[in-house]
Amino acid sequence: MTKIVNHWIGGKTVEGASGTYGPVTDPATGAVTTKVAFASVDEVDAAVAAAKDAYRTWGQSSLAQRTSVLFRFRALLDAHRDEIAELITAEHGKVHSDALGEVARGLEIVDLACGINVQLKGELSTQVASRVDVAAIRQPLGVVVGITPFNFPAMVPMWMFPIAIACGNTFVLKPSEKDPSASVRLAELLAEAGLPDGVFNVVHGDKVAVDRLLEHPDVKAVSFVGSTPIARHIHTTASTNGKRVQALGGAKNHMLVLPDADLDAAADAAVSAAYGSAGERCMAISAVVAVGSIGDELVEKIRERAEKIKIGPGSDPASEMGPLITKVHRDKVASYVTGAAAEGAEVVLDGTGYTVDGFEDGHWIGISLLDKVPTTAKAYQDEIFGPVLCVLRVDTYEDGVRLINDSPFGNGTAIFTRDGGAARRFQLEIEAGMVGVNVPIPVPVGYHSFGGWKDSLFGDHHVYGNDGTHFYTRGKVVTSRWPDPSEGPAGVDLGFPRNH
Ligand code: NAD
Repeated sequence: MTKIVNHWIGGKTVEGASGTYGPVTDPATGAVTTKVAFASVDEVDAAVAAAKDAYRTWGQSSLAQRTSVLFRFRALLDAHRDEIAELITAEHGKVHSDALGEVARGLEIVDLACGINVQLKGELSTQVASRVDVAAIRQPLGVVVGITPFNFPAMVPMWMFPIAIACGNTFVLKPSEKDPSASVRLAELLAEAGLPDGVFNVVHGDKVAVDRLLEHPDVKAVSFVGSTPIARHIHTTASTNGKRVQALGGAKNHMLVLPDADLDAAADAAVSAAYGSAGERCMAISAVVAVGSIGDELVEKIRERAEKIKIGPGSDPASEMGPLITKVHRDKVASYVTGAAAEGAEVVLDGTGYTVDGFEDGHWIGISLLDKVPTTAKAYQDEIFGPVLCVLRVDTYEDGVRLINDSPFGNGTAIFTRDGGAARRFQLEIEAGMVGVNVPIPVPVGYHSFGGWKDSLFGDHHVYGNDGTHFYTRGKVVTSRWPDPSEGPAGVDLGFPRNH
């Protein structure tokens, strides 16, 4: 029997009433295993109404109440890591260890939210003028929304909701329709942790649900993570509708390898960061920029390592890389490799013909490595989001930095070198939001913030860290004067208030 994934509204499962469902596929077998309800406008409205109702009390709850729920949620999440990772593998296809890694990185943000009382400490200036004090506090916004991509079905929602609800907001999540089960399990664990009904809601669906959330008058802020064209649409529409918005988009992450780098370490890093999760990571390295004469040696070292990657179902502990999310996406990724030679690239490894015995209908693609890729090639210009690594050759450090800075994307980037001076220069000169020095995937820890530049992020705030707290709260400054009764009335003064 096909499993059905329903909405989670007001603390309980709500069956889809629109009659529209989307298919959820096991990428390893190609079989449709699940149907997910697609929300109508009315169902989205019901979720927002539940969140608005819950905000009346949750918005007034004490920090102690909120953090005690989050501590219990943290313990439950820890205890259910494997189960959530299995749900992810069954619908996304990534290998179990990788799915466990995503849960662990989401848990880091729950850790941060458990300590929200420290982040929400206000500021107080006493005696700014005679008997006048000024206090700055931050208060929640109300109902906030998260719209998330398929590639991290547990971690990306957890970049958002733990901080949002810790700050006193209520939340409506619209997860990816391609792998929706993990989000519902997280909702159940939040309920088990004692989160009041309506504080966290999940509506599934497509553009119909998203567009209603973007225009709903009771939604105060929107956090989005996904591809660049949709991020742009979300940012424009939500801003036009008067909402606070952060919209994280796609990426093309470069790794600059200087001639003095440890080439074995650089090759290990390039292979791990390019092909991990089959390249379906917004922080995947998809372009290696080799400086000077090291190109041939580096490409050979990458090829040797990449050829050994074991590809198979994510549920098989022997697999290092799983299938791609859909057949359509698999074919699109393959088309970049097929077209690369005609665009001037050298195809060192071509993974387009790969299949796995016994799983012939899975969305398989093998490892592809393209060398001497011109910057005009589509394989370089587009975010491929698959296991395809492009190597580009440049003569100097300056040429490499110029090439990277010319990319419209600016999510993550890395430099591999033994030269501290060059690494320092790179940190300052490169136009990207997250920089690694001999670290290929520089995803910041929970207490720093995650976000890109240029077409990789629309809006002013990165996610989590201090930026997260700032995004989910608004400032208020209170100026108080408690006159000494012996002073008598201050008298009327129509001049602009001055401090003295
Ligand atoms: P996507 O943009 O197709 O979908 C993201 C979300 O938007 C989903 O919930 C989807 O249902 C919704 N959506 C899709 N089309 C829509 C439309 N026309 N109108 C309104 N909503 C729509 O992204 P995806 O394929 O699920 O995820 C992969 C993309 O996400 C990649 O580009 C990747 O780089 C990016 N990503 C970025 C980050 C980051 O931090 N910058 C992190 C993870 C993924």
